[in-house]
Amino acid sequence: METVRTTCPRDCYDACGVLVALEHGRVKHVRGDPGHHVARGKLCRKCSIGYNGAFIDPELRLTTPLRRVGAKGEARFEPVGWPDAISAIAAHLGAIVQEHGSASILNAHYTGTCALIDTAFPQRFFNRLGATEVEPDTVCNNAGHVALSYVYGSSLDGFDPEAAATAECILVWGANPSASAPHAHDHWLSEARGQVIVIDPIRTPTAAAADTYLQLRPGSDAALAFAFAHVIRRDGLVDDAFVAEHVLGYDELELVLEGCTPAWAEAQTGVPASLVEHAARAYGRGPSLLWMGQGLQRQPRGGNVMRAVGMLPALTGNVRRPGSGFLYLNGSDSRGVDSDWLTGAHLVRGDAPAPISQMDLADVLADPGRSRALVCWNINPVASSPEQEALRAALTREDLLTVVCDLFLTDTAAYADFVLPAASFLESDDIVASYFHHTLSAQVKAVEPPGHALRNAEIFRRLAADMGYDDQALQEGDGSLIEQLLTGSGVSWEELARAGTVRLYAEPRVQFAAGFPTPSGRIELASAAAEADGHPRLPEPSVDEPAPPGYLRLLSPASPWLMNATFGNDRKLRRRIGPASVALHPREAAGRGLHKGDHVTLRNATGALRLEVEISDAVPPGVAYAPKGRWPSHETAGANVNALNPGSKTDMGDSSAVHGVLVELIPG
Ligand code: SF4
Repeated sequence: METVRTTCPRDCYDACGVLVALEHGRVKHVRGDPGHHVARGKLCRKCSIGYNGAFIDPELRLTTPLRRVGAKGEARFEPVGWPDAISAIAAHLGAIVQEHGSASILNAHYTGTCALIDTAFPQRFFNRLGATEVEPDTVCNNAGHVALSYVYGSSLDGFDPEAAATAECILVWGANPSASAPHAHDHWLSEARGQVIVIDPIRTPTAAAADTYLQLRPGSDAALAFAFAHVIRRDGLVDDAFVAEHVLGYDELELVLEGCTPAWAEAQTGVPASLVEHAARAYGRGPSLLWMGQGLQRQPRGGNVMRAVGMLPALTGNVRRPGSGFLYLNGSDSRGVDSDWLTGAHLVRGDAPAPISQMDLADVLADPGRSRALVCWNINPVASSPEQEALRAALTREDLLTVVCDLFLTDTAAYADFVLPAASFLESDDIVASYFHHTLSAQVKAVEPPGHALRNAEIFRRLAADMGYDDQALQEGDGSLIEQLLTGSGVSWEELARAGTVRLYAEPRVQFAAGFPTPSGRIELASAAAEADGHPRLPEPSVDEPAPPGYLRLLSPASPWLMNATFGNDRKLRRRIGPASVALHPREAAGRGLHKGDHVTLRNATGALRLEVEISDAVPPGVAYAPKGRWPSHETAGANVNALNPGSKTDMGDSSAVHGVLVELIPG
């Protein structure tokens, strides 16, 4: 039996090392690499099942290009060869460019894989084409990127997890590593020398395992952050020298902080004042790490929340120093990756069309004046985008060319004119740059793709060639791409493939060591740039309006058993997660006369969804908890939780405010 060492490229902080056992050239099993610093011999439960299930299931994988023969949404196709599929798509796209302009072609993509080549190289084709990008981060985390860019100049220069060796406190705010970074939950947090504090409306397994847990009301994070800052100031924990040298706007904030006492915070957030005091002091004494989760900013005022929480490292000097820092995401540029080169930014001709928000996708697709084609790759919007019913209706437009590249016949693919079979991470060489650890990892091809499936990069090379684009960058091969990607690291592909993962920094990397890339070169708590964009100059201690009587706030975070919508078709995982459910606090259930196993319909102006009732005191009163990621076509209701999502935007970045959705519950 042969073993291939590779890396998991899912949308996950961990970037686990993987061992693929082969027998007679076929995958026998996929397991965690015992020698890998994160995996320690184990994959998370979803990947353990999905990589040994759907990913290698010949009945589920797409093996040949498909052309639609039924009505849109029926998922009736006929096989077609690559040359025919590519030339038909290229001809259709070319005609759209001539008649309607290239901006009417929508390029929708996200994190179906996070391996660098297959997540970024296809952008070269779309840049050359002049397509309109459906801004990927708007369905997830763009408010955080915008907000932190105002404050620190970048949202992609985070702490080095290795700094946990010297940190006295790790504050996890609005993140649930037990689902989104299972190994960080299992090892990094549990083995941390400092105390772990978790702030989350849901008592997640990470929260339950913490030294201190603050269960706040959803939408009250900014008020809690201001109360932390109040305590830090009152107790002399502000780093005056750091603030004087590096921070703009503290003097303006001090006036606001005065009234944000722990008692005030208790009334605003539901967190006992004593816990606010304790947690604020522990963080303020430092050295401290702050992990700002993506769920934190999926709220109506998510940008303000991120600016408010982002004050804390600045006031306490817990940034730009060894053993301290904050993390939203670590960008691959710390590993020497030039994103502009990889995505072919230079291929844009003239003015690139303005991107649209994923929150507007259904509306834009319903409008023939704004959209004539949709190309989806690394994304399954019918499962993951808001306004699910409206989106499906728009996808039935006969005058809309829809092309989907995927491993599986997804809910979105069911509406496609052409479905193109994509290779999985087991079937192509690539590079993985974790967005948590400052590492580079090799994704090594273990087996051939099934049937005629091709990696994303090759699909778009062929499309570019058929459209007559002669730019060399559009045909750059895998070997050259890998070599270029590794140029800044000083590691060869052979060395990386042998090691699996390499760390690029001998000592924990200090974030913002080169300074803060803001207009002033300082941390801008008061931001003229934000003000010029129509936002308040300072973050505000705001709290969302309470839900109207009879309504609950719907929280739909990641399931520990699914990776966004990936694995939603895996047979074993579907059995494991059981019927779609909504979890309610015992008080909410009792008040409605509901018991475990009853059915309720969640309803709002966008849609309705019938779910089975679970009862859990991990969920606070006022909340309906229903994780995302299920495939609508596999549900009894024919829909998932996005049927209730109106696509409301956050205060910044045109991003998803999905954790602000309100629903009423109708028994039955
Ligand atoms: S999804 Fe994350 S935890 Fe699971 S195997 Fe991949 S990297 Fe590891």
